Amino acid sequence: MKAFYDLHIHSALSPCGDEDMTPNNIVNMSLLKGLDVIAVTDHNSCGNVRTVMEVAGDRLLVIPGMEVETAEEVHILCYFPTLSQAEAMEELLKTNRLPIDNRPDIFGRQLYLNAEDEIIGEETRLLTAASTLSIEDVFSHAFALGGLPVPAHIDRQSYSVISNLGFLPPHLDIRGVEITAKNLDAWKTEYAQYPILCSSDAHYLGDIAEPFHFIDINSKNAEEFLAKLTKKIC
Ligand SMILES: [Zn+2]
Ligand SMILES: [Zn+2]
Repeated sequence: MKAFYDLHIHSALSPCGDEDMTPNNIVNMSLLKGLDVIAVTDHNSCGNVRTVMEVAGDRLLVIPGMEVETAEEVHILCYFPTLSQAEAMEELLKTNRLPIDNRPDIFGRQLYLNAEDEIIGEETRLLTAASTLSIEDVFSHAFALGGLPVPAHIDRQSYSVISNLGFLPPHLDIRGVEITAKNLDAWKTEYAQYPILCSSDAHYLGDIAEPFHFIDINSKNAEEFLAKLTKKIC
């Protein structure tokens, strides 16, 4: 079956994410758009993923994940078959991130929400602070935890491995790259040796992807989806 996906969505936990990016709004908008699989990938945290999974139930496959910022200020999406694996990655990041307090008036609030979309807490440490882990560290930790690291928006002028390093490090075990929709046609040939993901990086509800990019799967199962994903070239 074709599983239409958007694997790069920010919730209200990301300071830059709109406060309307609540679990119910994200799930309902994704269903309205006709998506089958989503990932909520907040900066350096999976703090709202449990609630999104609870709200989604069996209506939508939610892949646990987060968008890690490396010491080189490169964004790496990390996906995991289970929430506990993602939470282990988050724990690692908590002790390997610059301890900067959030300034909600400047960066925005970082909200933890329950299944009724009620605010149950606010993260006080700035989640968008870079971790002290290198790209190599993030890759090795994500793989060791059973996850899949994917360099995010490699076509962007900032926070991407290409913009910051100038190339994809050849020694990295890269099993997929993300290219944004507007540059997909221009970039996909050059990186055709990698499985290419195209997601929205939505910070606002309306930006959640249309059902355009898909992966063929046999069942709605995170492990199978991630295994298939690494074989896909769009
Ligand atoms: Zn990013
Ligand atoms: Zn993002």
